[in-house]
Amino acid sequence: MNETIDDLLPGLIALRRDLHAHPELAYEERRTSGIVAAALREAGLEVHEGLAGTGVVGVLRRGRATRMVGLRADMDALPMREQAERPHVSRHPGVHHGCGHDGHTAMLLGAAQHLARAGGFDGSIAFIFQPAEEGRGGAREMVKQRLFDRFPCDAVYALHNWPDLPAGTVATRPGPLMAAADRFDIVVRGRGGHAAQPDRTPDVVLAASELVAQLHTIVSRRIPPMQSAVLSVTRISGGQSHNVLPAAVELTGTVRSFDTAVQDTIEQAMRDIAAGVARASGAAIEVEYTRYYPATINHAEHAQLALDAARNAGLEAQLAASPAFTSEDFAFMLQQRPGAYLWLGQRSDAHAASLHHPSYDFNDDVLAFGVRWFVAMAGLALHDSSDTPRQP
Ligand SMILES: [Zn+2]
Ligand SMILES: [Zn+2]
Repeated sequence: MNETIDDLLPGLIALRRDLHAHPELAYEERRTSGIVAAALREAGLEVHEGLAGTGVVGVLRRGRATRMVGLRADMDALPMREQAERPHVSRHPGVHHGCGHDGHTAMLLGAAQHLARAGGFDGSIAFIFQPAEEGRGGAREMVKQRLFDRFPCDAVYALHNWPDLPAGTVATRPGPLMAAADRFDIVVRGRGGHAAQPDRTPDVVLAASELVAQLHTIVSRRIPPMQSAVLSVTRISGGQSHNVLPAAVELTGTVRSFDTAVQDTIEQAMRDIAAGVARASGAAIEVEYTRYYPATINHAEHAQLALDAARNAGLEAQLAASPAFTSEDFAFMLQQRPGAYLWLGQRSDAHAASLHHPSYDFNDDVLAFGVRWFVAMAGLALHDSSDTPRQP
């Protein structure tokens, strides 16, 4: 089996570097999804295009079983400038495959090509290539467009390359693996006026400052110590002059957590604090709180299967000690179907950069590991039982 996967590698490396050189932003992955659809068709799969715009699903059927497993990759790049010298550096200024989705796409395609040739499973596999993982909810959009009605997967699996783990190692855990991501946008409004007459208008700069300080007490004072959450204020803007009190100041930030009850507590605390500061300062304060990605929660049994598949694929499989505070829109698929998400180690001396770093590049040495894991995952989920006696 490994021999034939190895045969695919030169083509997969070339493909991965070609995708890296031609990165596309969320919902604009037209070139990428065209390449994916053509390669799936050439491998003999049934191909469905246009889900959530640029999403592609390839279906492979073998044997007689009616069960179906979903394997998912993301295709989009980030709106950031790549800072590195390499032959396959981004040709699109300001767009960079800084999260390795070029590698994810190449690995899932390689698994489809291999499984189409080698079979070894009984049932159907839906190879799901989604757009817009980076903050734009491509998975949510595919689910909304009835992904799992059209492709009734019994379980879904996905992986992400993981620079914190060495190449050849994978990790996951039952329960939460990635955080829920919320954003807040707060506007503090007064009337504005002369800086020498602060008694005539609510001081929105001072009110915003109090708000920043008090928001940072939410996690430490309202969340039980054994639970975890992060709240960061990431932008504050208002005012243009040294002698004018502005009429409004805006604040933006993010909240990460693993549990809906914690999210509820934080949102409520934020609204309470805003109301208190508004009352004390005389400013009007509007809070917009948006929950955009839920936590990625692995189903226990499927997390175990994902680790078993990794061992079957010759990888070192670890139980992740704790979840990560980054987030992932595969969470929307896991809300609909049981399954698991896996971290695929990618670190080497030449590949030490973190995800979303301007010099990040996917490590081509792990292409084979990812393909083997997807293949082993399909094998475990749809093991061929034709050689065991059937029940009468
Ligand atoms: Zn990312
Ligand atoms: Zn990513």
